[in-house]
Amino acid sequence: MVDLRNKIKVLKNSFDEGLVHIKDTKSLQELRNSYLGRKKGRITLLLRELKDVTPEEKPKIGELINELKSYVQKKLEEFSHKLQEPKSIDSKIDLTLPGKRKYRGAPHPILLYKKRIEQIFQLMGFSIEDGPEIETDYYNFEALNFPPHHPARDDWDTLYINDDLLLRTHTSPVQIRVMEKKKPPIRMINPGKVYRRETPDPTHIPMFYQVEGLVVDLGITFAHLKGTLEFFLRALYSDSIKIRFRPSYFPFTEPSAEVDIGCTVCGGKDPNCRVCGGTGWIEILGAGMVDPQVLKNVNIDPEKYSGFAFGMGIDRTAMFSFRISDLRNFYENDLRFMRQFY
Ligand SMILES: [Zn+2]
Repeated sequence: MVDLRNKIKVLKNSFDEGLVHIKDTKSLQELRNSYLGRKKGRITLLLRELKDVTPEEKPKIGELINELKSYVQKKLEEFSHKLQEPKSIDSKIDLTLPGKRKYRGAPHPILLYKKRIEQIFQLMGFSIEDGPEIETDYYNFEALNFPPHHPARDDWDTLYINDDLLLRTHTSPVQIRVMEKKKPPIRMINPGKVYRRETPDPTHIPMFYQVEGLVVDLGITFAHLKGTLEFFLRALYSDSIKIRFRPSYFPFTEPSAEVDIGCTVCGGKDPNCRVCGGTGWIEILGAGMVDPQVLKNVNIDPEKYSGFAFGMGIDRTAMFSFRISDLRNFYENDLRFMRQFY
């Protein structure tokens, strides 16, 4: 005699397994047909086998098959409801709740500001040059007329890698590298990262951005320097910004000047202003005529050619533009701060 009890058990197990694979109404219908189909459904076929069972066993086996059949029907019903559920979830969405806003990534505010500076100089026909951040002592100091005991060479300012290699303390080495390769006319800026051994405070950070510029050509005078920087500062800040040049000293320019702008925060009206210290002026750029010795160092004839150079801190300048009182804000990665710039 066929062991129908066992068959019923096997069928129930394989039905349960089939349930696991139901993904949609189509697979549900297929499962229903394969168990309850009128002609070839597995339970239908099982019922037909009932005729071979002994009369004593028949009522018991019949009951077991019917139990299986109602179990299968109940499960199929449940799954059919489940498949329709997404609709009922939709209707429960509360459109009045605040949404989750997704932010798109964007360039860092300092990089955006650097781009703005580059665009102003590109307008005036300057090229944009780049160089290594790990430099040799020669390019960082010697070629730029820094004497061996100049304070800038001090261990406390410079991050040395070994006796000869260091993290560049300014972007000026790029000017030397360009002058070695190109002959005048040269009209370039070289923005980039520089490194100093500084303890971070509101106006100092150990890694910051600088931009320097260099023009070398026939007949370049201080008037060209002044005109270029005035155009640049008016384009960067505003047409009405106050600008002044003060005599200064740098090892690689002669004569040298420092360039100040009228305080962007107090406009010269607050004697206790934290940004200008009550003077009404902010120091923004260092500049000067390229020292003839620097030109000689790169085999450019100083009798024939002259040039001017300038440099400024990008982070510092951005700080004044955006009226931010602490440079460290730019590098703390607080998104609430960063998002103000987009
Ligand atoms: Zn001020």
